[in-house]
Amino acid sequence: MRQTEQSQKAFEKAKEYFPGGVNSPVRAFRSVGSTPPFIDHAKGAYLYDIDGNQYIDYVLSWGPMILGHAQDKVIEAVTKTAVKGTSFGAPSPLETRLAELIQKRVPSMEEMRMVNSGTEATMSAIRLARGVTGREKFVKFKGCYHGHSDSFLVNAGSGVATFELEDSPGVPKDLIKQTLSVEYNNLQAVQDVFKRYPDEIAAVIIEPIAGNMGMVPAQPEFIQGIRKLTEEHGALFIFDEVMTGFRCDYDSAQGLYGVVPDLTTLGKVVGGGLPAAVFGGKRQYMKHIAPDGSIYQAGTLSGNPLAMAAGIATLEQLTREDYEYMNALAKKLVAGIDQAAAKYQVPIQTTCRGTMWGYFFNDQPVNNFEQSKASDQQYFAHVYRELLEEGIYLAPSQFETGFMSTAHTEQDIEATIQAFDRVFAKLTEQ
Ligand code: PMP
Repeated sequence: MRQTEQSQKAFEKAKEYFPGGVNSPVRAFRSVGSTPPFIDHAKGAYLYDIDGNQYIDYVLSWGPMILGHAQDKVIEAVTKTAVKGTSFGAPSPLETRLAELIQKRVPSMEEMRMVNSGTEATMSAIRLARGVTGREKFVKFKGCYHGHSDSFLVNAGSGVATFELEDSPGVPKDLIKQTLSVEYNNLQAVQDVFKRYPDEIAAVIIEPIAGNMGMVPAQPEFIQGIRKLTEEHGALFIFDEVMTGFRCDYDSAQGLYGVVPDLTTLGKVVGGGLPAAVFGGKRQYMKHIAPDGSIYQAGTLSGNPLAMAAGIATLEQLTREDYEYMNALAKKLVAGIDQAAAKYQVPIQTTCRGTMWGYFFNDQPVNNFEQSKASDQQYFAHVYRELLEEGIYLAPSQFETGFMSTAHTEQDIEATIQAFDRVFAKLTEQ
């Protein structure tokens, strides 16, 4: 049996200070009817909590730790950088080095700006799109999550969906009138919205592989169709690659789909586990950002040297072979889960793209938010709690995605499949 006494105590104490005892809502494990293990340390593919339990980690800090936790070269780079100073509030060559590495793989980012979180990146990208087009409306997709800035808290995924807070209080009604929220993987819906507001839409923003309504990849024709529509209507196409950037593939989602967006946002992997994110794109747009242009955006800790060092060490090490390795493991894992589910007649839909993978307890394919929400969330929570007891650490909500790192091994995958098998067996007997 897993020990939880120390984590329970730590959680009670944390609740005195933080809403729900946490600093980001989904970490509270509420939607799976459990409480969070408090983490002591992490190494490679494993998390270790303060009760001494070990977990195989498929959350990987919600994406960033693609080389596994506390990876030697990343730690070395961060440590070496730290002794030279932790923040200058002035330019350093580290920022340019990271930008070079990014641009090599994401050439559409002709110019970019470093920020500290995905939320800042998408918020700034929308401001830029609105500023350069002189239009105020933009299109987002139901179930996609683009951070917690006001304009995006409309039919959002991730924790917003987990806690059913689809229209957050505190967001000005007049502002979100400008957010047009349409169904994912439904090109007709995008056509309709452009027909209704032909000259008013500044941008369409998309998670090209949605990971915040569970994992739901966009169909290639859908992405290609939006590219065409945005061009026809003078709107910008923004790829929110905060999750997919350097995660779904070596060249990110835009490489995978062969579609060139006008603007891109990155986060998670690009900071190697430290707070860094980026927005960027075509120079004709980026030149409008201050001080070259008049659209304002700034940050005290932006381009932070520790975050840059971690990002550089991460991107410098990742090879195309690493992605093949991780993809093979992810494929093996979902195939194993599928097989185990079939054995016990559990209806399941699994997906896998590169190093991202996901599952829904549903007997129908899942291509949009409505279908995702129609999955059996109660069964998800049961399975979740049992897997946690088995030492498998997954995202504690149906509206999230699993990840793989280079530190995971075939043995980890085997052990995880066997754990799923035991859990399905146990829940079938009950
Ligand atoms: N965009 C996407 C696609 C994301 O997945 C996330 C975070 N999960 C964000 C934006 C927001 O990033 P952050 O949490 O760093 O603000």
